[in-house]
Amino acid sequence: MAKVLRCSELMPFCKAVIEGEDVEEVMAKAAEHVQQEHCLPTLPPEVAAKARAAIKDE
Ligand SMILES: [Zn+2]
Repeated sequence: MAKVLRCSELMPFCKAVIEGEDVEEVMAKAAEHVQQEHCLPTLPPEVAAKARAAIKDE
């Protein structure tokens, strides 16, 4: 089952929806997304923890 993460769970007002085959893929794409769109060089641990908790089955 695919996994989805709505960036708005982490960054209010961001409309990006990140999808992947599994949690690891979503987390990798999320890290890339925050680098490019939110000017964060890395996903801070507390944001990563929030992201993991916010990932849902599609
Ligand atoms: Zn975003």
